[in-house]
Amino acid sequence: MEILDGKKISNDIKQEIAEEVAKMKDRGEKVPHLAAVLVGNDGASLTYVGSKVRTCKKIGFESTLIHLPEDTSEEKLLAQVEALNANPEIDGYIVQLPLPKHINEQKVLLAVDPSKDVDGFHPENFGKMALDMVSFIPATPYGIMELLRRYDVDTTGKHTVVIGRSHIVGRPISILMSQKGKAADATVTLTHSRTQNLKEFTKNADIIVSALGVPDFLKADMVKEGVVIIDVGITRVPDSSEKGYYITGDVDFDEVAPKASHITPVPGGVGPMTIAMLLKNTLLARKRQN
Ligand code: NAD
Repeated sequence: MEILDGKKISNDIKQEIAEEVAKMKDRGEKVPHLAAVLVGNDGASLTYVGSKVRTCKKIGFESTLIHLPEDTSEEKLLAQVEALNANPEIDGYIVQLPLPKHINEQKVLLAVDPSKDVDGFHPENFGKMALDMVSFIPATPYGIMELLRRYDVDTTGKHTVVIGRSHIVGRPISILMSQKGKAADATVTLTHSRTQNLKEFTKNADIIVSALGVPDFLKADMVKEGVVIIDVGITRVPDSSEKGYYITGDVDFDEVAPKASHITPVPGGVGPMTIAMLLKNTLLARKRQN
């Protein structure tokens, strides 16, 4: 069994980006600038955004955090998005989800300039991705693809079962892995909460990408020997530690790992890859602005 070490690979990617940024600086070029908009004080969102901004600094990017109060109106947020679209200093930006309930998420995502949409959530980018055109690929599926590529995991013709059909993970990874190319060319089945007899699919899967958000959902009796496991799930489970919670994935790691040929841990698997690929997208945005 081989661990797909997202922490290590994400550090390699960040190092590669940092070297490229240093060269840009030496040439007197503008360095990539990522902005993040956060509305409210959701604990997980604060952690994610904080980590994104800190990592920008480490690799030589410029970064801007725009933290708006929970009661920010939709109109105000849309005005902020327009300002970011018009600001030539900003190469790419993200609007951290989820947004408070009184704001229409779709309306906000549609207002993002697709050339600065480094999350890859705008329909223009999603459509281009589905049609094999140059686009911004959402960071989490992009990170999964990169992890599979760098570990040379054979996906050609392999039966890949994706659990979860979200717009940010399940749906895009099912498209990407069915396309032509490295870490792709797979035969993909997309499953979800209405799938009947899920176990019949997972037991026959060569590769399982689990993105549903239910701790320890995938058990040993649901997988076959030699399976490749990509655990996207991140759930905070309350405990008596100082933090008040621990992080766990969708896969019962202790049970499933002995049967797997490759497996991502949680934490330290897909999570760190997501941040690395967001930075990669921001670098691409900077290059494409030229
Ligand atoms: P979501 O929370 O929007 O939706 C969950 C999906 O799981 C739905 O499509 C639903 O149909 C499916 N589902 C629910 N119960 C099911 C069942 N019993 N059988 C089969 N399918 C079922 O999905 P999401 O936003 O992709 O998040 C999923 C998990 O991934 C969460 O834990 C989230 O925190 C995590 N996540 C991690 C990263 C990362 O960087 N590693 C990024 C995004 C999301």
